[in-house]
Amino acid sequence: MPVFDVATVRKDFPILGRSVRGHPLTYLDNAATSQKPLAVIKALERYYSEQNANVHRGVHLLSEEATTAYEAARGSVAKFLGLKDTSGCVFVRGATEGINLVAECWGRTHLKAGDEILLTHLEHHANIVPWQVIAERTGAKVLVTPVTPRGEVDLVAFKGLLSARTKLVAFAHVSNALGTVNPAAEMTRLAKAAGAVVLIDGCQSAAHFKVDVPALGCDFYAFSGHKTFGPTGIGVLWGRPELLDAMPPYQFGGDMIRKVDFAGTTFREAPERFEAGTPDISGAIGLGVALEYFMPIQAAAHAHEQVLLAAATERLKAIKGLTIVGEAPEKVAVISFNIEGGHPHDIGTLLDADGIAIRTGHHCCMPLMKHYGLSGTARASFAFYNTLEEVDRLAVSLEKARKMMA
Ligand code: PMP
Repeated sequence: MPVFDVATVRKDFPILGRSVRGHPLTYLDNAATSQKPLAVIKALERYYSEQNANVHRGVHLLSEEATTAYEAARGSVAKFLGLKDTSGCVFVRGATEGINLVAECWGRTHLKAGDEILLTHLEHHANIVPWQVIAERTGAKVLVTPVTPRGEVDLVAFKGLLSARTKLVAFAHVSNALGTVNPAAEMTRLAKAAGAVVLIDGCQSAAHFKVDVPALGCDFYAFSGHKTFGPTGIGVLWGRPELLDAMPPYQFGGDMIRKVDFAGTTFREAPERFEAGTPDISGAIGLGVALEYFMPIQAAAHAHEQVLLAAATERLKAIKGLTIVGEAPEKVAVISFNIEGGHPHDIGTLLDADGIAIRTGHHCCMPLMKHYGLSGTARASFAFYNTLEEVDRLAVSLEKARKMMA
């Protein structure tokens, strides 16, 4: 494992040097969006300064260069997901669009009355609502796997809910609200044994540990670039090429067609099949650079984050009246909590005064919050560029907030 020096790594992220309300920025809202290394910022600048042209269409040099860079980014995505080829890697706006694409294009043609879609109670709204809507349209039914008090998917219940009626199983690799790492390979194996198609929402895993799609054995995997040190507006849906090629496209236009004639039109195969129109060229290039930046340090970054998680958990638990929500043994560095007598938003505002950025509210997981009888939580989410000193700042500021709210 390469030596991981957090002080050196931080220099790659210009924003981490800024101050907020007279304090050094302590950015602990990485589950909402991550910061970007200079390599990504420079790649965007270089693209627009030197290469900007539309892809796949031009015979001129700039278009060739832009196309090469765009397709090289797809290569980085395939490598990042442990894939041998790029054919299933579709560029989309983000995880939300990826999941919606599968619900619409796969769901519309494969689901019918009596079929079941199995989710879990800890899903983000982006992995609930598209399934609810397609269920309403097709007559399929949404079933929900319960979670344990510690915030793990109840595997016994999961097994019990799988049946010959289960046509699709969709679940988060990692919970954005609690940080729980789900046993994704095991859940996939069980779901596939029942004959279901499996979609994994990888939004919160991609930035924290190595994702090996072939080892997971799923059929679809979606993640967002902006949570993985890349730009906003770009993400990836990977799908098994044979499934993607059998799905009707959901947007029609340039680049995704094979032949257009007023007598009828034929479509290309994946990934172009689902990339109608001019794509987010700079976003894809930026994402490719982000992944190339991240991959060499991924294992060491994960180990560093686990040190931060252990330290922060210990410090927060020592604060009177503070309760951590979600204490699964397998977690990424995300801590959801409440402090007796204080509203999560008040905690967030008091921390902001000290330059500390956290997230408060339901985290787009209203059903999970309801399950715990909460309106929301405060959530500190770490990235590999966070430090033990920042853990200390968080704990000190929370202690101060607790006294002010008492
Ligand atoms: N799933 C999970 C688990 C998430 O955390 C998020 C973002 N918070 C999404 C899906 C949606 O991602 P995006 O908004 O980038 O499309």
